[in-house]
Amino acid sequence: QAVFRSNLSHLLELMGSGKESLIFMKKRTRRLTSQWAAAAQRLTRKLAGTQRDQKQVLVHIGFLTEESGDVFSPRVLKGGPLGEMVQWADILAALYVLGHSLRITVSLKELQSNLGVPPGRGSCPLTMPLPFDLIYTDYHGLQQMKQHMGLSFKKYRCRIRVIDTFGTEPAYNHEEYATLHGYRTNWGYWNLNPKQFMTMFPHTPDNSFMGFVSEELNETEKQLIKGGKASNMAVVYGKEASIWKGKEKFLNILNKYMEVHGTVYYDSQRPPEVPAFVKNHGLLPQPEFQQLLRKAKLFIGFGFPYEGPAPLEAIANGCIFLQSRFSPPHSSLNHEFFRGKPTSREVFSQHPYAENFIGKPHVWTVDYNNSEEFEAAIKAIMKTQVDPYLPYEYTCQGMLERIHAYIQHQDFCAAPAPASPGSHPAQSLFVLAPNATHLEWALNASSVPGAWPPPHSLRAWLAAPGKACTDACLDRGLICEPSFFPFLNSQEAFLKLQVPCDSTESEMHHLYPALAQPGQECYLQKEPLLFSCAGASTKYERLCPCRDFLKGQVALCQGCL
Ligand code: UDP
Repeated sequence: QAVFRSNLSHLLELMGSGKESLIFMKKRTRRLTSQWAAAAQRLTRKLAGTQRDQKQVLVHIGFLTEESGDVFSPRVLKGGPLGEMVQWADILAALYVLGHSLRITVSLKELQSNLGVPPGRGSCPLTMPLPFDLIYTDYHGLQQMKQHMGLSFKKYRCRIRVIDTFGTEPAYNHEEYATLHGYRTNWGYWNLNPKQFMTMFPHTPDNSFMGFVSEELNETEKQLIKGGKASNMAVVYGKEASIWKGKEKFLNILNKYMEVHGTVYYDSQRPPEVPAFVKNHGLLPQPEFQQLLRKAKLFIGFGFPYEGPAPLEAIANGCIFLQSRFSPPHSSLNHEFFRGKPTSREVFSQHPYAENFIGKPHVWTVDYNNSEEFEAAIKAIMKTQVDPYLPYEYTCQGMLERIHAYIQHQDFCAAPAPASPGSHPAQSLFVLAPNATHLEWALNASSVPGAWPPPHSLRAWLAAPGKACTDACLDRGLICEPSFFPFLNSQEAFLKLQVPCDSTESEMHHLYPALAQPGQECYLQKEPLLFSCAGASTKYERLCPCRDFLKGQVALCQGCL
């Protein structure tokens, strides 16, 4: 039985010491202890009576191992990507607070000894049972496990969860398909269940959304901050000087109206090349960075870094976040940063989550190529009053609730659902909705025992040509749910949707099930690993499974807890 914990001092010991990255993470955990404890109390009440087993969990942070080059630790003090550290610190805290038994490794040697690899041997003997129910790692760690677990890697990989900031789409994950169809990258092709990849933001529901937390304010703090804002103070998003290069035009416009602050790393020999009017604080410790955000009115992004934690922290501290729209959108096809990442996702602004899930008045996304639009936005922002805002899924309680639900319900070791529903008992339980636009579950009760999310939340549509299921569902205020695809992957589903199929074929394709135009050909999915919410082609009308979600917690459906 797992019991919620509110004292994190043992976790801090488990985290070890030495590396700058660990020091950064431990400081964060220490600072957030009271927030985690309060959240644990609230969740204990909410889940009252739920039986939770204590899991044996290994957390192996591959990118911090010397063997993978540990490029991050030395950069922590210079403003290198801190987002990853933020997320790992919060994952550790959440697992610990939920009451699970934790082992943490940041070197290959520790990994081997925890996996029971005998000294001098390359991999663990197949007969050895794995002493962990769950292993959280990253792509580097996954590679190391494959190398050192031998045959038992295959046997136990269903217990692995891969923390993967930007996500891995099914087309890139399926080795054979990726190789045949040009989706092969440095990262993909692991043939895991795509839900085993856990992302920083809810990019595509094909993966699980893991997230991180931002500090929460109580009502008194919110009021104090609102009263203490300097309406002419702007902080620029970007700890590295390169981000500021070529942005003089915008900085000059901004400087006409506001005092411009920055937190760019510098050393005494080589101060950063930022305009003289910028008040540069240097890279600040996280609590001081939060204090700066509390005073500022505007947090402004110049296009990079993509999708980090800082804009959420700024909005939580009552800033308005101004960012540029990307037109055309950035993706692995046209931008160096995304090149080789196992996703075709198109990024329409610096921080799509802020744009789509938060939006105005907190987030303004404008065309920076149009100086007038940019300038007008700054003037309007200075006059706009906003309250500090933090989406529930980024609070400690929201993150605990989500990880709890995953641990309780996600089981990738069970036999996978068949792609084709011939043998699926659920198929005949669908009906066309009374308004004849979509399919829904016919019975109110959850008629497939143990299925998670429960299928009664399913609503299925035929999407317009060129629409991905992610977007088709969002357009209807719902979210695509890949685990429902098998229920729809049948001729009967098309029939019920009143699609007259001239022919029906079953093939491996990440856009199937779909109707191909012209000619009314219906295609079913042959390979369950390729069911994908992401992806679109004007050639196809995709059959899309959607579900509802909890307000502020997109990962969970209304009956999911
Ligand atoms: N941060 C910090 N000091 C600063 C600026 C930022 O500690 O001067 C922290 C910030 O609180 C955030 C983290 O750096 O949690 C990561 O921020 P960012 O969004 O820039 O993501 P990254 O690109 O580092 O992954």
